[in-house]
Amino acid sequence: MILLNCFLFLFLKGIVAETEHKGVHLWRTQGDINDTVLNKFYERASSGEDIWIRNNETIDFLLYNEEQQKMASFLREHGLNYTVLIDDVRGKLDEALVKTFPTKRNAVSGDSFTWTAYPSLHEINDYLNKMALAYPTHCKISTIGKTAHSKPIYMLKITNGDANNKAILVDSGTHGREWTSVISTLYFIDSIVRKFYQQPKYITTKDWYIIPVLNPDGYDYSLTTDRLWRKNRRKLSGMCYGIDINRNFDYNWGKEGSTQKPCSNNYCGPVPFSEEESKALKGVADKRFTGYLSVHSAGTKVLYPLGANHDDHRRHLYMTKEIALAMRKIGGLQFLNRDIEKMGKIKYGMAMDWMYFVKEILHSYILETRGQYGFDYIPPEQILPAAKEVDAGLRRFAEALK
Ligand SMILES: [Zn+2]
Repeated sequence: MILLNCFLFLFLKGIVAETEHKGVHLWRTQGDINDTVLNKFYERASSGEDIWIRNNETIDFLLYNEEQQKMASFLREHGLNYTVLIDDVRGKLDEALVKTFPTKRNAVSGDSFTWTAYPSLHEINDYLNKMALAYPTHCKISTIGKTAHSKPIYMLKITNGDANNKAILVDSGTHGREWTSVISTLYFIDSIVRKFYQQPKYITTKDWYIIPVLNPDGYDYSLTTDRLWRKNRRKLSGMCYGIDINRNFDYNWGKEGSTQKPCSNNYCGPVPFSEEESKALKGVADKRFTGYLSVHSAGTKVLYPLGANHDDHRRHLYMTKEIALAMRKIGGLQFLNRDIEKMGKIKYGMAMDWMYFVKEILHSYILETRGQYGFDYIPPEQILPAAKEVDAGLRRFAEALK
């Protein structure tokens, strides 16, 4: 046991060593954050800054060591206060990793997961293939694309084969570090595939198309090398890697300044659909779908597009409220339903907007799992409750979809 712990310690030190030159802090700034100030904030936001939460009075954002001084004077100049929420984000996350990794070896149990640890990409792919083999009557697997590092992007289709079924598209793991989004979708797959014909009718009379890891390169890299990694892993010119898949869709693409910087965590790519992951999703999306649910972590929210016509807006409000209420019932957490802008997210080039405005998939939403600080930072014992919340949200959506 001691030997094993030593091994884990050295292994983790190896992971930390690769990234420790980049000290990262989580800052909160508060005050009158009007549009002018906000634009200036984005303009000066350099490669490292990564916004976790934003509203009219508050921005929580990551800041690298070397940028602290400049940022502090910028905020003072504009009359904004700031506090340091987490002084050493990587340290905090590594602490969580040390707690998680010993149980990581127990991420798989028999032919399923333990739901107390995060599985590796290999374990997930193995599981998806085994599910398709074990339940061929209603579960099929296909490869919808290959990443820059030649990893397959898998999709499961779960259906009773009835041609009258409504179709629902679900994805997760768009952002590498959002591990909880991935395990929640896997939990939903597990909960419906094993006893499919005993499920309620609103489940069995849908065609489910589920992509648990849309960004396999990013997930793998976050799990093995840099916990904070968000984008894919395509090598760009210079020192930068990766495109934010959820800024690479062709609706209001590239309209926000900081997304055009290649080193930015929100880099939108050189053109829309430049990436294998967004191309793969585009290849699947068509008129057969009534619903598109993109699972992200974390924010304890259900989000809908901004700018829908009056009738659709009413439907969006109703549906997202139903989903949020179903998620609340599991653990009592206050899941909110909001449009994307009210929650302070930059909305440009997002999959959800493209699905709704371009592909005309009426019910296109984002489900954000529970989490802390607007980030996927939850201890192992909360994995299962988080997954159950997403499961409840997806089930309520299917039930309410007339
Ligand atoms: Zn995300």
